[in-house]
Amino acid sequence: MATTVITNISSLVTNDPSLGTGPLGTVQDAAVVIDGDRVAWVGASSKAPATDNRVDAGGRAVLPGFVDSHSHLVFAGDRTAEFNARMSGQSYSAGGIRTTVAATRAASDEALEANLLRHLREALRQGTTTLETKSGYGLTVEDEARALRIAAAHTDEVTYLGAHIVSPDYADDPAAYVDLVTGPMLDACVPHARWVDVFCEKGAFDGDQARTILAAGAARGLIPRVHANQLSYGPGVQLAVELDAASADHCTHLTDADVDALANGNTVATLLPGAEFSTRAPWPDARRLLDAGATVALSTDCNPGSSYTSSVPFCIALAVRDMGMTPDEAVWSATAGGAAALRRTDIGRITPGARADLSLLEAPSHVHLAYRPGVPLVSAVWRSGVREL
Ligand SMILES: [Zn+2]
Repeated sequence: MATTVITNISSLVTNDPSLGTGPLGTVQDAAVVIDGDRVAWVGASSKAPATDNRVDAGGRAVLPGFVDSHSHLVFAGDRTAEFNARMSGQSYSAGGIRTTVAATRAASDEALEANLLRHLREALRQGTTTLETKSGYGLTVEDEARALRIAAAHTDEVTYLGAHIVSPDYADDPAAYVDLVTGPMLDACVPHARWVDVFCEKGAFDGDQARTILAAGAARGLIPRVHANQLSYGPGVQLAVELDAASADHCTHLTDADVDALANGNTVATLLPGAEFSTRAPWPDARRLLDAGATVALSTDCNPGSSYTSSVPFCIALAVRDMGMTPDEAVWSATAGGAAALRRTDIGRITPGARADLSLLEAPSHVHLAYRPGVPLVSAVWRSGVREL
C-alpha cells in the first residue's frame, strides 16, 4: 500500500498527551505518515521517514477529522417556513418533526439517499470524517427500516430512533406505539443499526416509556443513547447513565444530580449547540460539566427542524463563545469526545494505528476554528488514508 508523509505542519493535534503538549498532545513543526488507511508515524517534521508520496502542509495546522456523533440525515422536505416563523417570535416544540415525517414517508428511496449523500459531502468539506445518523422520520416499520438501510449503506454509525416522537398514526394510543417500537419495528431495524435512541422529553416519551424502549433495544444487542434534557428538566440523563448509554445528548437542562451522574458514569455528555442557536434557547453549560469531570462531546444534531447545520467548526465557535469551553476543549470534544460518544478508539486521534482521518486547516493553529467563526478553514481532508478534498 502507498505511503504518504505530510510534512511542515505548524501545529498537529494528536489527542494523545504522550505524543505532545497538553491534553491535545499538540506537536509543533510536525509530520504524519499515512500507510494505507492508517496513521503509521507521528513526529518532528525534520525526522520524517521517506515515503512514496509527500505533501507539504506549508506551515498550516492538522487535526483529527471531526467525529459528528449526532445527526438526523435521512429525511426529505424543508422547514424553512417553520424556522422563519420561530425567528419571528414563535417557540420550538417537538411537534414540528411531524412535518418531516410526512415528507420523508412520501419520498422515494433514491431521493432520501441523494439527500443523505449531499449532506455527508457537505459535512466532509467541513472536516467531518465520521458521522452518526439516525432514523426517526419514518415512524412505521417499513419507513424506519428503510431509513436505516439507506443510512447503513453510507455510514458506519447508525441509530434506530423509532422513538423520535409518537407516530401521528398512534396519537390516541401512545402505549400501542411503544409496543410497535419495541416489537415489529425493532425486529425490522436491528439488522441495520448499532444504536438505539429515544427522545425522552415532554411531548415525546416519558422516563418509563424511554426505559422500556432502550431496554428492548439493548436486549437485541443495540447500545443505548438518549436525547435527554433538551427542552426541560427530566429523567433522560439519569436513565442514560443508569442504563450505561454511550451518550446523553443535548444536556441543556441539568440538575446538580444530573451533572454528578454524568461525572461518575460512563455516559458521555454530547452537547449540540446548533439546536440552541437555531431555536434561540439557553446554551448548555459545558463549563459546569467539564469542571465536574464529565466527558463532553460536541456535535451538530444536523436535522431539518431544530439545527440545520452540518458544520462542526460552527459548533466549536459557539461552544467557545457561549458555553464556557476553551478552544482546546472544544476541539477535543469534536474529535476525541465524539469518538468516545461512539465508543470508538480508532478515530478522533492522530496516533500510530489510528484510522488516517485528518484535516488540514488554512490556518497555523486549531484555535482558528473558534477565532475565525464562519470562515471555511478546512482545505484538505483525508479519510481512511484517502484524500477526499
Ligand atoms: Zn437529535
